[in-house]
Amino acid sequence: ILARGRDVCKRNGLLILSVLSVTVGCLLGFFLRTRRLSPQEISYFQFPGELLMRMLKMLILPLVVSSLMSGLASLDAKTSSRLGILTVAYYLWTTFVAVIVGIIMVSIIHPGGAAQKETMEQSGKAIMSSADAQLDLIRNMFPANLVEATFKQYRTKTTPIIKSPKMASEEAAPRQILIYGVQEENGSRVQNFALDLTPPPEIVYKSEPDTIDGMNVLGIVIFSATMGIMLGRMGDSGTPLVSFCQCLNESVMKIVAVAVWYFPFGIVFLIAGKILEMDDPTAVRKKLGFYAVTVVCGLVVHGLFILPLLYFFITKKNPIVFIRGVLQALLIALATSSSSATLPITFKCLLENNHIDRRIARFVLPVGATINMDGTALYEAVAAIFIAQVNNYELDFGQIITISITATAASIGAAGIPRAGLVTMVIVLTSVGLPTDDITLIIAVDWALDRFRTMINVLGDALAAGIMAHICRKDFAQDTGTEKLPPCET
Ligand code: ASP
Repeated sequence: ILARGRDVCKRNGLLILSVLSVTVGCLLGFFLRTRRLSPQEISYFQFPGELLMRMLKMLILPLVVSSLMSGLASLDAKTSSRLGILTVAYYLWTTFVAVIVGIIMVSIIHPGGAAQKETMEQSGKAIMSSADAQLDLIRNMFPANLVEATFKQYRTKTTPIIKSPKMASEEAAPRQILIYGVQEENGSRVQNFALDLTPPPEIVYKSEPDTIDGMNVLGIVIFSATMGIMLGRMGDSGTPLVSFCQCLNESVMKIVAVAVWYFPFGIVFLIAGKILEMDDPTAVRKKLGFYAVTVVCGLVVHGLFILPLLYFFITKKNPIVFIRGVLQALLIALATSSSSATLPITFKCLLENNHIDRRIARFVLPVGATINMDGTALYEAVAAIFIAQVNNYELDFGQIITISITATAASIGAAGIPRAGLVTMVIVLTSVGLPTDDITLIIAVDWALDRFRTMINVLGDALAAGIMAHICRKDFAQDTGTEKLPPCET
């Protein structure tokens, strides 16, 4: 038994360490909350976690560019278009199913029931319009400057302009009337109060294209995929660049293999640091708690039942074995709230544990990390209907359909970074006339929900790669010679 135990530990050492690190991170975080650390101390404490995020982000750019370019260049036109169409169709379909699951859950649990809007937290204003959000999505697909796209993405800036009201005659118009009198207030006497007659200022919003910090992964994916397809059509003259990309891809994966040993340590501090930062959990209102439970239940149903069953029916293979193979990637998603940052680990798990054809993984994963977000779509639908419930706003069937379509679109537009779903939710809210300011109602629990939905986003991409590998197995079996160059083994 001892020898068997040692064997299991040896084979799953990294996974066991990652599970342990999530547990230790939670315990440490809750323990240190009792010590009331200062913000300065918390930021020092978070440093090892920050390093983990930095390492992962450093790998995204070379990984996405090299995997898409070499992956697509190595497929012939017929195979790449078949894989492309099947993958995108599968992604759209499963995202739509996720939205439906969310809508069913929120209709059954009804978390926003009789909530009083005023009792919820209000902490700011979301004023971007839906049209701006959609234009940003399209702008990000076509970055004007590729170098800039590696560290900036487009996000419309909306600034309020306060127009002072014009009176008929500025000079003559009375601004205040002083009323002489006496008023009793808490037992003391207040005299000479004024009545302000100035009309309230008019506020108009001005939108202009702007950029924010953060890699424009969507633009880079589109550019790299197009380059990959073109390189594949160039024949021998494209070989040097394809060869370069294959070597780059292999070497990035080797860096990942070394860096993963740091990750369990980083995860402890990433999770504990977040727990130290979070608001007092008892301050979270009951309705908000129900809302969070609704999202988590929906994610569990979609991620642990629907997607695995789909995998089982299509491939006839055991989904539990498959999910166990990507468990480490799921833990990294939980720790980082970013499917893009998790990408290197998802690759590693799929290639090494689940033995997915690398040509399929090179296409399906980067595209999935950018456009396939089942967890985000589900959460956006639940959040929109929750906001409607809080406002006592009755949604008709047509509006529910609108929410399901726009939640799917908004999740495609969300980047694989923390809290991206919260930003694209304006698209869903404005589509049915719900107040975008009410996004602030759900901010208090979003940091936690973001982690769970990112796990489902990553799981959706991984299962998609497994399903595509099964569906396209014949194309790839016949096509083994089309990877023009042997993998660059170092
Ligand atoms: N954090 C999520 C992801 O990276 C996106 C979201 O905010 O829903 O997949």
